[in-house]
Amino acid sequence: MYLTRMRPEQIRAAVKDGLPLIMAAGVVEYHGPHLPIGTDVMLADYICTEVEKQCPCVVAPPISFGPTLSWAGGPQDGEIDFDPAPFYAYVKELLKRFRMIGFKRIYIVQHHQGMEGLQALSLRRAAAELTREETLEWGHSWGWKAMEELPNPLVFETIQVGGIDKYVAYPPDNAGPMPIGHAGKGETQMIQHIDPLTVHMEALGSIAREQLPEWLLDAAEADPAVGKYWLDLCVDGWVRTIKQ
Ligand SMILES: [Zn+2]
Repeated sequence: MYLTRMRPEQIRAAVKDGLPLIMAAGVVEYHGPHLPIGTDVMLADYICTEVEKQCPCVVAPPISFGPTLSWAGGPQDGEIDFDPAPFYAYVKELLKRFRMIGFKRIYIVQHHQGMEGLQALSLRRAAAELTREETLEWGHSWGWKAMEELPNPLVFETIQVGGIDKYVAYPPDNAGPMPIGHAGKGETQMIQHIDPLTVHMEALGSIAREQLPEWLLDAAEADPAVGKYWLDLCVDGWVRTIKQ
């Protein structure tokens, strides 16, 4: 189910049934001349929409902008390096409102610069501060009680942020880690699988090979079948986690 397409009684039923909320977070950033600038948010949102096909959950619209540090490109490329202060305030407010609706489990599939990047840190800080605000009402020393005696036994797990590959179970014959790499083979082959019309491999030739940054050097090796293989493992991992 998609949050924005649900009517109020469906929202109330989803909350009553304890359905989790899942939301993508990514950025709009230069990804070479051959990939769309929304590559990161497209990948994260693909995971959410595939998870929704396999387990009951509510999918919120993706967060499409965040701090990029203008590392790979600039405004002339369409890149949006969102100021981290208002970004943090926005996501904290958004997560607070999801909790007010009544969602007890909120999963954010984040794809950009890893868990130490500013976007992931902002989301994780917002989650941690909301946990603190919730527990302020419980007085002090509540850690002495058994978790099930607390008003929200899942308080530490209510909002979880993870990368697309966080729960990948690597098969015995392929120990990983899966190739991701900014705009290189990993991301290119995944976008080739999920939205091939947005990819223009010939454009890589518009930059002389000796001018290419290191992260674009293996992009030409991308194979959409391999991209699908890794995406399926990402989705399997998230489905397994959310169904628990
Ligand atoms: Zn990327």
